Amino acid sequence: MPRSISKKAQKHNQAPGRLNVGQPNGGTNVSKSAAGPKLNAAKGILPPGLYIVATPIGNLGDMTQRAIETLRGADVIACEDTRVTGVLLQRFAIATPMTPYHDHNADHVRPQILARLQAGEAVALVSDAGTPLISDPGYKLVRACAEAGIKAIPLPGPSALLAALAVAALPTNRVLFAGFLPSKSGARCEDLMALKSLQATLVFYESPQRLADSLADMATVLGQRNAAVCRELTKLYEEVRRDSLANLAQAYADEPTPKGEVVVVVAGAAPDQEKTEAIDIDQALQDAFKTMSVRDAAAAVAEAMNQPRRTVYARALALAKK
Ligand code: SAM
Repeated sequence: MPRSISKKAQKHNQAPGRLNVGQPNGGTNVSKSAAGPKLNAAKGILPPGLYIVATPIGNLGDMTQRAIETLRGADVIACEDTRVTGVLLQRFAIATPMTPYHDHNADHVRPQILARLQAGEAVALVSDAGTPLISDPGYKLVRACAEAGIKAIPLPGPSALLAALAVAALPTNRVLFAGFLPSKSGARCEDLMALKSLQATLVFYESPQRLADSLADMATVLGQRNAAVCRELTKLYEEVRRDSLANLAQAYADEPTPKGEVVVVVAGAAPDQEKTEAIDIDQALQDAFKTMSVRDAAAAVAEAMNQPRRTVYARALALAKK
C-alpha cells in the first residue's frame, strides 16, 4: 500500500523504551547483534521455494530469529517497498537483494519471480509490516506457486489481526476477518448488512481518518454491541479502547482524528438475535393485521423492520392461516 516514506519508515522504527525487547543477542544494540554469526548467509543453504515471512508491525523486537535467518539465506526478497524493507534489513544486517512486488507491478513481476523459483532459487516474500497476504500483496503469487508445484513455506509472526484479537476481550472461537470496509458510507453499510447476522467476532482494518464515520455506520447497522478499537499495537502509543459501538462512535466523533494505525474488533451477533427478530416480526404482523390486509401488513412490517418483503410475506401468510 503506497504511503509516504516517512510514515512507512516509522513502521520499523523501534518505539523508544522498547529497544531491548527480544533482540537477537538478548538486548544489546541491534547492529552489533546483527553483525554476529550469520546463520544462513551463504546462498544455496535454503531449500528452493517461496518463503512467506512475517515482519514486525511496529516493534522490531517481534522479528523472529527464523525470519532473520531466512531473509539472510534467500536469494532475493520480494517486498512492497524497498525503502521500508531496506530499513528492516539494515537493522538486522541482512544484505540480500530486494525486488519490488506490489499491487501496481505484480502482474508484470510475478512471472519473473516464478521463473527464479522454477530455476531453484529461494525467494522470500515480505510486506511493509506484518504478515504478507493479510490485506497485503501475495495471494496471487502463492496461488501461482501452488499451480506450478512450487513449495510455499510460511514463517508465522506478527499480524495486526491476531494482535488485536488477543487484546480485544471478545470471543475468539469464531472470527471473521473483514479487512478494510469501503470508504463511502453507502457501500460500507451494505457490507455491514451482509455481516450483521454472523455469530462471529468481526475484525476490520481501518484508517484513522475514517474511524469515527465507520464506527457510526457500525453502530447504526450492527446495533448495540461491544467493540474494541486497537491502535498502534506493539508501538509506544499502543491503546486499546473497549466500549459499545455507539459510545466509541461518539467518543471518536468528539475527538481530533487519532494518529497511527487502527484495528476495530466487534462482537458478533448474539446467538438469539435472529430469534428475537423473528418474535418482533410476528408481533408487528399481529398488530398490523388489526387494520390491514395480510399483503399490506407484510409490506408495512418489511419496510419498518428493514426485512426482505418475500420473507415477511411468507411469515404473514403462515400466521394468518393459524
Ligand atoms: N499485513 C498486515 C498485517 O498482517 O497485519 C496488515 C497490512 S494492512 C495494509 C495495514 C493495516 O493493518 C493498517 O491500516 C491497520 O488497520 C492494521 N495495522 C497494521 N499495523 C498496526 C498496528 N501496529 N496497530 C494497529 N493496527 C495495525
